[in-house]
Parts: sequence; C-alpha cells; structure tokens
Amino acid sequence: MDLADCGSPERLIQTILRHHPDWTPPVPIEALAAAVNILEIKDLDTTSFEGALLTDPDKSQGIILCRPGVPGGRRRFTIGHELGHFLIPTHVGNQQCTQSHLSERGFSTPAQRREAEANRFAAGILMPKPWFERDADGLGLPEASHLRKLARSYDVSLEAAANRFVELTSTPCAVVFSYDGLVRYARSHVRFPRLAVERKSRLPSDCATKVRANAGIAEPSDWIEMDGTIWLQHEWGRPSPRVLEQVLRQANGHAVTMLLLADDPTDDENEDEDDMVARWNPRF
Ligand SMILES: [Zn+2]
Repeated sequence: MDLADCGSPERLIQTILRHHPDWTPPVPIEALAAAVNILEIKDLDTTSFEGALLTDPDKSQGIILCRPGVPGGRRRFTIGHELGHFLIPTHVGNQQCTQSHLSERGFSTPAQRREAEANRFAAGILMPKPWFERDADGLGLPEASHLRKLARSYDVSLEAAANRFVELTSTPCAVVFSYDGLVRYARSHVRFPRLAVERKSRLPSDCATKVRANAGIAEPSDWIEMDGTIWLQHEWGRPSPRVLEQVLRQANGHAVTMLLLADDPTDDENEDEDDMVARWNPRF
C-alpha cells in the first residue's frame, strides 16, 4: 500500500479502503495504525490534550497518545485524527491536539486547515462515505434513533455519527447539540435552510427540546411539528417552512435535537422548475 503520494485525506482513505476490500464496520483503526508503523497507542499522562503524535522528522514511525478515561468511540476518533497527522504528507513533526482541534472545520489559517484535514481523515476512515451513505439511507427517513444505531455499528461517538449523518444523508436535516439549555453547536445538511441558533446561545424559548423537559430521555421523543421561525433564519418575502423536531437526551444534561422540514422540499424544487419552464417557453 503506497500512501506517500496521497496528498488529501480523501485520496488516503480511498487507497486504504481499496487495499482492504474485506473490511466491514467497525474499521480496525488500531490494526491500521500498526500496519503503517505506529509502534504504540497509549494514554497521555496529562488531561490537557485529547491526543498527541510523537514522530521523527521523516515520519517513518510514530506513537499515538490519547487522553485517559475517554470512551471507546471518542478514543477511536482521536486515534484516527492523529493517524491523519501521521499520514498526510504536509503535516510535519509532533502534534498536540485539544478538544477544539478535534472539532475544527475552518481553513482560515494553515493550523486550522491541518486540524480540519486530520478530522476529515478521522471521520472518513471510521465512517467511509459509500458505506455510511448506504447504511444511513437504508434506515429510512432521518430519526434520532438512527444516530445511536450508526454510532454502535461504526463504533464511534453519537456526536461523530450525527455529524457524518447530516453530511451524507440524502434528506435535508439538521442536528443541534446542546448542554443544559445552551447550544454547543449545530450542523445542517447542505440543503437545509439556515438555522437561527448560534454557538453558546440559549435554545429557542419555544422549541420542544426546551419546553418538553421530559421528552426523549429513554428513547427519542415523538416528532413535534412547529413554526419554522422558532429554529430558522427568516428570509424576507418567503414564508418560513414548518419544521419537525425530535430530541434525544443523553446523560448529564446533554441533548441532540434533530430537525426536519415538514414538507418535502423536492416538491417545491419541481414546482420551481415547472415555473421556469413556463416562463421561458414562450420565448422559444
Ligand atoms: Zn490535531
């Protein structure tokens, strides 16, 4: 397996998967690390970082370190992230990565871009796109319970599975991660309308996650339909779509809220297309 010429995380992942056609989820990330010369994976002796990579200047071999006491799924993501730093040719030297590095998606600075690339590698190798797309859509319309199933099957955290789900499902949806009534962050499908919530803001006062405090504790709540203005940015001149909300509460005040559009947006797209045809036809 020649990984030296693979510049991007996606090329690396493609090459690795082509070399292992027999793999099924969960991907054996520790065996992969050993196969590319990671000599050891062990605990850090500090809790200041989530993960670290010790390597030589040529990156001929390395050691991955993980924060002690981190649950298995999150630990696997950390290993994937550090392995990304080890394998992506433009990342050089030792790395020390914090929790915020492990959720970095920006590309304004070279450091941000490197962390985001390591995250793309971790998500992409632990939840390969073709498998995850097939499994996510195979479960039917989005449901918060699918996130738990996918997290279990790919042996990743619920949060990592939710992020990948929003990225790869074919149905526009969004997830909002909150803790104790405050938004930690939100992720939207590329075709989902823009959310009005911001990091560290309070959950909208009329949303079901806030109003129905006992919903979604053991199992995800029922879908609750509401006015889209509760969650979405208002677009002038356009009525806000109706939104369906479902909440899944985790231990210690954490909640995952899933949002869907109540009406299938593809219907509108077809209507728009019909309008276009009607408007243009007379000219031709
Ligand atoms: Zn990093």
